[in-house]
Amino acid sequence: MKWNCVSDCGNWEQEVWRWKFLWRRPLVGRELEWEQALQGAVGVVQLSEGVPDAWTWLPSNDRIYSVHSSYLFLQEPVLPDQDHALMHVWQSYAPSNVKGFAWRVLLDRIVSKENMLKRGIFSSVGSASCALCNNHLETCFHLLFSCPFSIGVWNGCLQWLGCSLSQVTSVHEHLSGFRVGLTHSQQRLCHSIWLAVIWSVWLARNEVVFGEVLPALR
Ligand SMILES: [Zn+2]
Repeated sequence: MKWNCVSDCGNWEQEVWRWKFLWRRPLVGRELEWEQALQGAVGVVQLSEGVPDAWTWLPSNDRIYSVHSSYLFLQEPVLPDQDHALMHVWQSYAPSNVKGFAWRVLLDRIVSKENMLKRGIFSSVGSASCALCNNHLETCFHLLFSCPFSIGVWNGCLQWLGCSLSQVTSVHEHLSGFRVGLTHSQQRLCHSIWLAVIWSVWLARNEVVFGEVLPALR
């Protein structure tokens, strides 16, 4: 539920916190997969028994939200070594379903052929080749960032933005390196473009997989 506290979303069992989310209706299809991803993401958080829940606004010294502190936060330069990948996703201007997709990309929880191979849905590596180039195992990273088709899309996008991106080997590195300008508001816009690109490549891939093949991709 939207306004539930952490204490409403699970309970302590022999000093171990067990998350139990409540939903307004039974989850179906992909929602079950998203819940698993959510369990994986929150499972790494260490909770302390007996400490009450409270809302905290980190950018302000007194931990209380104000529009002024929010404005200052958005104007602050971003430190280059900060890994705020998930924060970049949630603060972007993208629709919630696209943010959810990007979140699963960062966790490698999308339904790529490699992930289906791991679950036994595909029986061999040969049947799990990339839908866009048919020349590589369809991992999440390959499909969205290192497939020749995807590289072409990213290069066009980078050219349009007038920036460059050094060689990267992970989704987090790609998102961190995809930046224009120094302020939070400039990067928020940039990360929204990043989300739009991965979502568009994913939709193009699905058109190929589910039969509506784009002639340009053949
Ligand atoms: Zn490919």
